[in-house]
Order: sequence, then C-alpha cells, then structure tokens
Amino acid sequence: MNKAIQQVRRFVDESVRPFMRSTVWPPPYPEPLVSGMRELGLFGLGIPRRFGGLDTGDEIVLGVFRELAKGCLSLCALLGSHLRVARYLEVQGTEDQKKKFLPAMANGKVIAAHAHSEAHRKDPVLFETRIRETEKGFELSGRKGWVTNAAHADLIAVVAGFRSIRYAGLSVVVALIDPSRPGVEIGPNLPRMGIHGVSVCPVVFHGCPIGISDIVGELHANGRVMFEESRAQKYLNLAARAVGVGEELLAVARGYLASNPALAEQPVVRLRLAEAETLQWASEAALERAIGTLSDPMNAALSAARAKVFCTDALNRIAETVMQLHGGAGYAAEGGPERIVRDSISLTFCGEAKDRILGAIGTSLLNPRSGPTAITPAQEASR
Ligand SMILES: Cc1cc2nc3c(=O)[nH]c(=O)nc-3n(C[C@H](O)[C@H](O)[C@H](O)COP(=O)(O)OP(=O)(O)OC[C@H]3O[C@@H](n4cnc5c(N)ncnc54)[C@H](O)[C@@H]3O)c2cc1C
Repeated sequence: MNKAIQQVRRFVDESVRPFMRSTVWPPPYPEPLVSGMRELGLFGLGIPRRFGGLDTGDEIVLGVFRELAKGCLSLCALLGSHLRVARYLEVQGTEDQKKKFLPAMANGKVIAAHAHSEAHRKDPVLFETRIRETEKGFELSGRKGWVTNAAHADLIAVVAGFRSIRYAGLSVVVALIDPSRPGVEIGPNLPRMGIHGVSVCPVVFHGCPIGISDIVGELHANGRVMFEESRAQKYLNLAARAVGVGEELLAVARGYLASNPALAEQPVVRLRLAEAETLQWASEAALERAIGTLSDPMNAALSAARAKVFCTDALNRIAETVMQLHGGAGYAAEGGPERIVRDSISLTFCGEAKDRILGAIGTSLLNPRSGPTAITPAQEASR
C-alpha cells in the first residue's frame, strides 16, 4: 500500500475515530484533526512539488479520501473543497497566482473553501452571483447557499458570472476572495442532518470590490473549462468517499454481529449482510474501473459520473441494511452506525444530485458524438 494512504489509515485509527467518539455534541471545529492533516501534508496532495505539495497522482489522492472517509466525512468535505481550488489554480492560474497561493495552500496555512452551487441554477452563466465591471474596477455581488468550511476558511473561491462593459455577453470566472474583506458576509452555520464539525454556511457578497489579480487566470480565463475539467475528479472523489464509508459501516456491522452470536446465527441476518457486502464489492469494482479510465479523456467523465451514482446509491442501501441489522441500537446515538449513516446520505446529492447526473449520462449515451463533456449537467441545463 502507498505510504500516504497507510499514514492516513493510521491517522484515522489513532486520531480521527477516537476524536469522533469522545467529542461533545454538536462537535466543535476539529482543530486537532485539521492540524494532523497539515502534518501529514494532506493539504498539498496533488499540488506540484515546486509549490511545496506532495504531487501525488489521482489514484493515490482517491485512496487517501477513501481512508479518510472511514473516519469522518466532514474532513473529506473540507479537504475536497480545498484541493478543488488548488486544481483551479494549477489549471488556469497565472504564474503569480500560483506562487502566491499554492505554497501556503500546500502546507495548510491557507485553507480554501469552494463557493459554487446555487439552488435551481445549474449553469454558472445564469448564477445570481456576478462580477460586474464598474468605472472604478470590479464588484462581486450575490449569494451562495452552502459553502463548506466558510466559517474557518482563509480563502473562498467563488464561481461567478462575469459581465464586462467592454465585451458583449456573459462568461464564467472564479474569483479568490479573502473572507475578511469588506462586503463579504459569512452567514450562520446551517442546521442540518449530518456533516457536522466543519461549518456549512451561506456566503453573501454585497458589491465586494475586487481586482483583476483576484480572478483565477485573469479576466478572460474560461472558468467553465476549469470547472468542467475538475468535474470527473470530483465525481470520482465522492465515489471513493462512498466506498470508504461502506467499508466502515460493514466493519461496524461485523463487529456488532460478532458480539451478538445469537443474532449472527439467523439465516436472514446472514443474507442481509451478504447482500450489503456484495454491493460493497461491486462499488469497489466500479470505482476501480472508473479510475482505470482517468487517462482516457473520451471516457473519464462518463465513467466517473457512473461510479459516483452507483457507489453513493449502493452506500445508501448498505447504510439502511446496517441500521436494520443493529435494530434499535443502530438508531441510538451511542457507538453504533447512526452518525455515519446520517453523514453518508449527503453523498448522493453532494457534487450533483443523482437524477441530474443520470439525466446527463442518458443525454451523452444518446448523443455519443457530442463527446465526454455532454455528461455535464450545466450544458444540459443551458440547451
Ligand atoms: C453538507 C453539504 C455541503 C455542501 N457544500 C458545498 C460547498 O462547499 N460548495 C458548494 O458550492 N455547494 C455545496 N453544497 C451544495 C451541493 O453541492 C448541492 O446541494 C448539490 O449540488 C445539489 O444541488 P441542489 O441542492 O441545488 O439540488 P438540485 O440540483 O436542485 O436537485 C434537487 C432534486 O431535484 C431533482 N432534479 C432537479 N433537476 C433535475 C434534472 N434536470 N434532472 C433530474 N432531476 C432533477 C432531482 O430529484 C434532485 O435530487 C453542499 C451541500 C451539502 C448538503
């Protein structure tokens, strides 16, 4: 096993699970765990070595997320947003932006959040969040409803529509915003069913003044290309998290049955366990198959989308079975699967809701000549 994956496995065993077991409820921001992630260099995963990162390939990054997900999906959400922003910088950032942000992001001194989604608006060109060119410069206005780690992030990457006074039409850009800047309002931590510890807040921009150097790749960089380029990685990353959580849930179920032999002897209990284990086996195979197509641009996006849908859906079914196998003990918030199940449900819609992805896959299958980007729901919405 790769060293980074091994280290994360140990970190989950020795630090994450004990922290999650002993923390008060609702859990505070998990500062000791974030420090541990800094020490392991996880904030520099995938960032090139010349900027201080670990320069790990996609497969190892996915292996790390799979391990981390066994301990805490909130940490995966925090790290996933950060690495997505690093990817934007790597793909389209100017050399100055890379030098300014990537070294501090690689060592975790600067942790970035990703403000993209807006309810019911899927094409970034139609986003309420806009950058407007004024006589004096630029202004960012609008609202993002759900931003993971907004309350603690040092930097927020905001995906916004852009209207220039010099050029016709709207384009999509990503702006890097310091949350302490005037005109940025971080809303309250949203009450929710799972993914606790790390904040998820609305963020509002009230005509926040920005400069050209705050826009990734400068003004006329194509934010849509940047966004689509990172979509396959995002889907695979969510699939890897689902596989990790499935492993964890099944380990919890096996432990429970080992300490309850009378229950384990029931044929129907064995049948349910075997069914869930088989789903997990198929999820692992789907993830591996999708990872195998990463270097093939014609198939990577479609495979990643399929793996995301399958693995997160399978996880929901595994979670339901593991709850049932525990009976009332599964529902109790003491040592059983309860927290893991609540967190796991979010994976089916985080990133993009399952039905939207399936709709986009169907479009792509019926229009094979349109190429891999046809699976992007954004394009589907703007047709
Ligand atoms: C814990 C948590 C953390 C999050 N963190 C972030 C973050 O850091 N940054 C960020 O940008 N966002 C974040 N989000 C938002 C998340 O990415 C969105 O909730 C997700 O993309 C789903 O979008 P939506 O909520 O607008 O639902 P919609 O896309 O509107 O989907 C809702 C439902 O409508 C149906 N539907 C709608 N349109 C279609 C269609 N065309 N085809 C088929 N079915 C359709 C489907 O049944 C779907 O399940 C977070 C969400 C959660 C819960």
